[in-house]
This record gives sequence, structure tokens and C-alpha cells, in this order.
Amino acid sequence: MTDSLAKSPPRSHLRGKEIEKLIPGGVNSPFRSFTEVGGQAIFMDRGRGSRLYDIDGNEYIDYVGAWGPAILGHAPEPVIEAVCRTLRNGPLFGAPHELELELASRIVSIIDSIDMVRFVNSGTEAVMSAIRLARGFTGRDLIVTFEGCYHGHSDATLASRSGHHSSGVPEGTARNTVSAPFNDLDSLDNLLEKHQQEIAAVIIEPVAGSMGVVPPDEGYLQGLQALCAKYGVLLILDEVLTGFRVAYKGAQGLYGITPDLTCYGKALGGGMPIGAYGGRREIMEHLSPGGKVYQAGTFSGNPVTMSGGIAVLDLLADPEVYAVLESRANRLFEGLSRCIDDLGAPVSLARVGSMFGIHFSERRIRNFVDSKTIDEKSFARFFHLALEAGIYLPPTAVDAACLSSAHSEADIDETVEKMTAALAAVYN
Ligand code: PLP
Repeated sequence: MTDSLAKSPPRSHLRGKEIEKLIPGGVNSPFRSFTEVGGQAIFMDRGRGSRLYDIDGNEYIDYVGAWGPAILGHAPEPVIEAVCRTLRNGPLFGAPHELELELASRIVSIIDSIDMVRFVNSGTEAVMSAIRLARGFTGRDLIVTFEGCYHGHSDATLASRSGHHSSGVPEGTARNTVSAPFNDLDSLDNLLEKHQQEIAAVIIEPVAGSMGVVPPDEGYLQGLQALCAKYGVLLILDEVLTGFRVAYKGAQGLYGITPDLTCYGKALGGGMPIGAYGGRREIMEHLSPGGKVYQAGTFSGNPVTMSGGIAVLDLLADPEVYAVLESRANRLFEGLSRCIDDLGAPVSLARVGSMFGIHFSERRIRNFVDSKTIDEKSFARFFHLALEAGIYLPPTAVDAACLSSAHSEADIDETVEKMTAALAAVYN
């Protein structure tokens, strides 16, 4: 590991030792831990625009983006105002609220494949509920996932061979999840043919974000949709990360596909905890109380979260936001490509819209097997050098980094300069 590890900010270091005794691993979500890069995770104090400030007073240009939600940067004023205004009236009532109607009608009017939507509290809940609905609708049990795709922490999607394992998932549950390689239509065709009578749904991240950033090959998602139609299985698109980020209409708008069900979270909530799933009316009407598929939630659709979502969608309705994201991302990649070429460094870049990956592998990553070529040690060195210079990246070699519309050209130029120095230190 690098020398800089010894220099983790003193207050974060102290707090880290304390919190480890009370919260397993010192984190409430393992993504946040520095286990993979070594050293001590940093305690953040506040965020504004493109910047984060830690409890020791250090400032960072942020590319974690709260793991996706912060598409407008941190604490965008109109969102914070809307949320505070709603909160003052009471955070939740356990009864219908007009803001639920407002956010639902916005989503239905933006996303062509959605007639009806349900709000929950996280991406995990959205995926878990969409899978149950698909099973209830089709009367079948099997779910197809793709190796290396991440869909949150419900049992079905943590089943073995999906790339994200967990002990504690019962064998019986794991048997109901089968996996295929990403970007490989032949394997999927074979799998669907073999199990077609038992498969409820295929669930996929349209752009994988946790095995490196892996865009779909040209025609892959369209081919996948055609295979789902051929074998009569539902297509669930997990747009928890891509939704409202890679484009206003998400990945389904970008690639021109029509899923049966779509899952959302992250950017949709304006920083408030949110999940949502929606799709065709004939499927959604199978949910209770009218239908037999149960899903509930004390906090689901609470007014505070709804007002965050409405405020964020209103701001994202301006195409200029996506133009800014695209132009900043291009500027970043032009700068990084130049540096990688000059150094002859074995590093490849991938991005779709404002989600991007700096892969420490010469190979273009197309699937989970390719992602195993990523050199985690070199990434860890780079990560700590960048961090020390004030650039905050996801602390894993494979998770998507996120740009926000609050990143200025000057932020990008400063980032390129600092990342160039970090890469040069790793490879010289
Ligand atoms: N699906 C995808 C594609 C994700 O990236 C994530 C989170 O990283 C989830 C689902 C789970 O969402 P949450 O962390 O809100 O439960």
C-alpha cells in the first residue's frame, strides 16, 4: 500500500477506531469501507455542489456522488428547499398524499414503458418487489440474472454465481436464480430455451456498474428483449443507477428498449431514500390490495421523499443538465486518455453519460470474467494518491464513479491534472 495510507486524516482515524467497535466494519453499507483499497474510510461532514468536506476540514472533488443520487451535486438549493418545506408539515402520515400522485404522474409521463408505479424506500426493495411481482404474475419461480450485475441485497439477487455472493442465502432460494454471462446472447438463448417453462423474469442492469462500468454491446439489449419475448418471460430493467442519470428517459430511452418492469432508486430521490418500480398496467394491477402480490412499507411514498423526487425531476427536465454532464464527462475523458496514452499505462476508460470507470486493465471490460483482469493493487495506489490530492473516488477498482452537473470545467481540469500526477506516480 502507499505511504499516504499512514497519513489518513487524524479525526477520521480516531472516529474510525471508535465506530468499528459499534458498527460492523465501521460502515452501514460495505461499499463505503476502504477494505479493498486499504486504510481508513473518511468521515464526511458536508457537501456542496461538486465538493465534499471531511471532519478534519479537508476538501475533495467528489466522484462518488453518494453512489449515484447526487446527479445535481450536493445539496442543490431547490431540492433542499422543497424537502424542508414538506418536512415542516410533518414527515409522514400513513395515508395517501398528493405528492405521491404528483411524482407518479411525472414518472408515467417521462417513461414510456410505465403505466403504473409503486414507491418503496431503496433500490433493493424495488428489485425485491419487482421480482416477487414477476413471479406472482407469471406463476413461475426462476429468475435469470447476469454474472457481475448488482441488484441490491435481497436474497434472490445475492444467490451464488451471480457475482455478488452472500452466505445466509438459503439453498432453496439460490436454486431459483440462474445466471448468464453479460453481453452474450447465445448463452442467454440456451438458458431460456432450457428453462423457459420455469422462468418468471430476466433482470439486468442495462449498463453494469459494479464489475467496472460495462456498456451493453451494440444491439445486445434489443436482442435480449427479443429473446424475452420469444420465450415469453418478463424483462425487468434495473435502472436504479442508470435511471434519470444516463439520460432523462434512462437507459431504456438511450438504447430504445421497452421492459415489462423497471426499477428505480438513487437519482430519483434527490438525496432522500427512495426506490420505485413500475411497468405495464396488467402486471402492476397484480399488486395488493387489488391483486394477490403483497408489498407494503411504513415509509413508502412518504411526502418528504416525494418532494425530493419532484424537485429533482423538475430540474432534470431541462436538457441543458444532460448537455453539461456530457460535456464535462467528455472533457474528463479527453484529459485522462491523453495521460494514459502518454504514459502507455495499462488502463482503459469506459463511460455511459455521467457514470464512468477507470479500469486498471488494458482490456475493454465486456463481462464479469474480463473484470477479473483489473489490477486492484495498482488501483489502490492510484486511489490513495488521488485522495491525498483531494479527489474522492469510489474505494473499489470496479464500482462506477459518478459526475454531477455541479462539476465545473475548472473542477474537471483540476481533476485531470491531479489524476495525471497520480497515474504517473503509479506507472513511472
Ligand atoms: N440496483 C443497482 C443497479 C444498484 O446500483 C444498486 C445500488 O448500488 C441497487 C440496485 C440497490 O439499491 P440500494 O442500495 O438503494 O438498495
